[in-house]
Amino acid sequence: MAGTTSQKPQRRMRPCPICSKLSTPDDYPFCSDRCAKIDMNRWFTGSYSIPVVETDDIDDSNIPDE
Ligand SMILES: [Zn+2]
Repeated sequence: MAGTTSQKPQRRMRPCPICSKLSTPDDYPFCSDRCAKIDMNRWFTGSYSIPVVETDDIDDSNIPDE
């Protein structure tokens, strides 16, 4: 039986939220410093704000009542 002593404890790796590559411990939770900066930039530019859902006035009276 081959020993498995060389096995490193694996952290749960998440995919990079920017490009979906595996994140690296150095830049966790991103895959790279670049993606980390992109994420920061998104925060600053407000891209993470909740998108406004435009609900055109849905009028029930237009729906035929069967
Ligand atoms: Zn990435």
